[in-house]
Amino acid sequence: MSETKTMSNETKRGTNYSHYNGGSLAEWAEHKMMHPRRGEVKGKHFLKDHLDFTGCEISINSLPVGGAMPFSHQHKENEEVYIFIKGKGQMQVDHEVIDVCEGSIVRIAPNGLRTWRNTGDEPMVSICVQVRENSLRQHTFEDGIPNMDPIKWPE
Ligand code: ZN
Repeated sequence: MSETKTMSNETKRGTNYSHYNGGSLAEWAEHKMMHPRRGEVKGKHFLKDHLDFTGCEISINSLPVGGAMPFSHQHKENEEVYIFIKGKGQMQVDHEVIDVCEGSIVRIAPNGLRTWRNTGDEPMVSICVQVRENSLRQHTFEDGIPNMDPIKWPE
């Protein structure tokens, strides 16, 4: 199966992995979700159920030119990390304004009151990782288990 845009967006599950294609960045604007209080929200797509995450939730997001979140919010237990990969805009955390652009990464504690808007002339595209605050026990070199078997790729 070739790794191109023609892939289906069905989840493929192996013994130890799940694979899902969220589409090209331009297509992220077309995703829709049903919000329990706001109804249909365009440009936001949660991935947990597609990819079987067990420790985090991740959304892929595209906010149109001139777009802004209509409300601010906090969390009960989860911190959020917003990774901006295209466009530019502003986040507001506890009424402090933070300018963001491609490459900006913002971590917000659960109690931070947050909202954001697109101030640029193209869609503002981001990935948001939501994970329980203080849940990380070990990581990277402490958690990784190297395997030195020779690597083979099919021809
Ligand atoms: Zn949130």
